[in-house]
Amino acid sequence: MVVRMKCSFCKQDAIYVRPYDKSALCIAHFNEKIIRRVQKTITKYKMFVRKGRIAVGVSGGKDSIALLDVLTKVEHKFPESEIVAITIDEGIEGYREEGMKFAKKHVERLDLEHHIFSFKKDFGYDLDEIIRILGERGNEREYGACSYCGILRRKLLNLAAREVGANVIATGHNLEDEAETILLNVIRGDTLQLGRLDPHPRKIHETLIPRAKPFRLTPQAEIVMYCYINDLEYQEIQCPYAVEAFRGIVRDFIFKTQEKQPMLCFSIVRGQDKIRPVLQTVKATKTLQNCQKCGEATTNNLCKGCWLKEKIESIEQ
Ligand SMILES: [Zn+2]
Ligand SMILES: [Zn+2]
Repeated sequence: MVVRMKCSFCKQDAIYVRPYDKSALCIAHFNEKIIRRVQKTITKYKMFVRKGRIAVGVSGGKDSIALLDVLTKVEHKFPESEIVAITIDEGIEGYREEGMKFAKKHVERLDLEHHIFSFKKDFGYDLDEIIRILGERGNEREYGACSYCGILRRKLLNLAAREVGANVIATGHNLEDEAETILLNVIRGDTLQLGRLDPHPRKIHETLIPRAKPFRLTPQAEIVMYCYINDLEYQEIQCPYAVEAFRGIVRDFIFKTQEKQPMLCFSIVRGQDKIRPVLQTVKATKTLQNCQKCGEATTNNLCKGCWLKEKIESIEQ
């Protein structure tokens, strides 16, 4: 996207115009604004502690690659804090290998620790096997592949972060992702979950490492641009299972509406910021307890990971 305009902040040529405030930005100012917004987001939601160990989930996609790069620059000013990278290998043939390659490349470039955990090693089955065993969606299989993958990815990322001694997990979820999650909870009428979606990392159970999304207020288009102007290579192909996700419909709505209303996602996220304190006064009917099998946090007797494992093993027998 090349535009013949001058930067709104200096005399250089602009390389990007932000649709929501019409600011034209040169390369230097674009980078500066991105980094400063992440800094502000971290401060606003008290995401990191001073002497913390931050585990960044790095899939190899644009969001996680950009996040790793930006956080390294931001945290450079805080030598007492430390960044470690975690990659989860779900076991998706023809897809994960490439993401892993980009993840490794950037972690090495930034000279960080890299910890790799896999579904196969920690769960016993990789995602391709799980989907094959559970069968075709709509017939034997109840949910889309992303639901099963999500259950295990969340569980494993938490386990990995705990194992490497991190006190917070940072993920690359961006402004549109966040708006999408909020809208999905509204559509489902899940006010409890809507209140729990808290950008302040919170310790809600002894086994759960709190989460942070430093890109909560950063639009996807700017993340793509950041990768482009800083020469950050990332995985561009979509996961082969993505076609099964319900998320797609809400996502399409967001990107379509955003063309006419560039402030859309900011409004949704800021709205949730305002309404969240009220939603959090609603008492949960179920409390978190330890899974009877693995000890991880769950509202049921078994966590979803152990539930899935039992299901797979019962089919396998
Ligand atoms: Zn400039
Ligand atoms: Zn369990």
